Amino acid sequence: MKLYKIKKTPIDKKGLGLVAACDIKKGTKIINYIGNIITKKQTEENPKFDNSKPIYLFNLNSRYDLDGDVSWNTARLINHSCSNNCDYDGKGLKLWVTAIKDIKKGEEITCDYGFGYDSDYKQFPCNCRSKNCAGYIVREGSRWRINKKFRKIKRN
Ligand SMILES: [Zn+2]
Repeated sequence: MKLYKIKKTPIDKKGLGLVAACDIKKGTKIINYIGNIITKKQTEENPKFDNSKPIYLFNLNSRYDLDGDVSWNTARLINHSCSNNCDYDGKGLKLWVTAIKDIKKGEEITCDYGFGYDSDYKQFPCNCRSKNCAGYIVREGSRWRINKKFRKIKRN
């Protein structure tokens, strides 16, 4: 049985997201993140990856990347949330989306896209509506740079 359903979600008004089809326990592998395995050289030479924030591109190891921007990769529909309940989890050349919290049936499955902070962060507003929302898609460790409410957290 599939652990997820494809649905329209409020996070991405124009698009789709994945929603839990049943209760999912923390640590469960929910979906395989698939795509084309390409060499670093191919990544460098392809203008498609010129963007400083390629959402669907994953670093697998020192030689290979995974280009998940393909129609058969259902996991590419997963939206970003500032209170994500899943994370990308890799082993060898395989990539999974794994629950990092218990997820209730009907909840949207979300990840942290992990964008670093830079001057063009405003191009990527976040609509996750969580209490922790930074307003923009920026990785957890960098959110204090754009939103005062994250500054209280002590960092080493
Ligand atoms: Zn957010």
